[in-house]
Amino acid sequence: MQIIRDIAMLRRAVTALKQGGKSVALVPTMGALHDGHLSLVRMAKRVADHVVVSIFVNPTQFGPNEDFSAYPRDEARDAALLAQEGVGLLWAPDVAIMYPAGHSTHIEVAELGADYCGAARPGHFDGVATVVSKLFNQVHPDVAIFGEKDWQQLAIIRRMARDLDFALDILGAPIARDVDGLALSSRNAYLSSDQRAAAVAFPKALQAAAKAIAGGADVDDALARAKADIVAGGFDSVDYVALADAGSLERLDVFRAPARLLAAARIGKTRLIDNYPVD
Ligand code: AMP
Repeated sequence: MQIIRDIAMLRRAVTALKQGGKSVALVPTMGALHDGHLSLVRMAKRVADHVVVSIFVNPTQFGPNEDFSAYPRDEARDAALLAQEGVGLLWAPDVAIMYPAGHSTHIEVAELGADYCGAARPGHFDGVATVVSKLFNQVHPDVAIFGEKDWQQLAIIRRMARDLDFALDILGAPIARDVDGLALSSRNAYLSSDQRAAAVAFPKALQAAAKAIAGGADVDDALARAKADIVAGGFDSVDYVALADAGSLERLDVFRAPARLLAAARIGKTRLIDNYPVD
């Protein structure tokens, strides 16, 4: 597997991969890879001839009091995992390559980025949209894969790709979960063993609420109950639990399919997100 950190070299390598009409899939990540990321890589292998994975811990999507410097980084371990999966190219630029001095262009997907995680993390999705658009322009993939774990992010990237005419397909990959139902996340590494045991309350409460709403329960009641169950299970606070239109992300007071239950909650210093389909 080639590990590339320079844009000119990346362009040459991708041109070589594409020779003979071969297709390239991109899987953008921030590293600290787990089976959720690897499931995206496996999907990428199924849909394209070559897989490029990027690892870039993007400073512009972290708020001033967030975990940018503490975010787990282990490129050697990540590279070994990707090589085992048959990834051809790892794109791992430094911050100075991604954001040269004077970088001053940003992308905002206004409508979809304001609520939910966008409200709790001002500027987060502008950072995501900007770096993802740069990754698309750097790699020129035929297809890019994102996890449904970050449902709002996936919706924003689909909208951005459509609005800005990026010539690629965006695919969503299902959420990979641990055996007890907790969604895999690089941030799970922050949890103490007590917090990790308690964290199961989060997917449990959401799954129960999704089932109740699909079964005709009052939406407000189901959301209030989920919030109470998450806190009773050991979380310190709930940023939001909301029922949203699965595509437009509009908040729904009354269930109508296709809908998605979206949530974020904090346990100790760790903020976890998750979502479930309601159908
Ligand atoms: P991250 O490294 O957290 O930025 O995630 C990189 C990509 O992996 C994003 O598209 C995430 O949505 C996706 N991802 C992270 N965790 C999971 C998971 N548990 N299941 C599916 N996709 C995931």
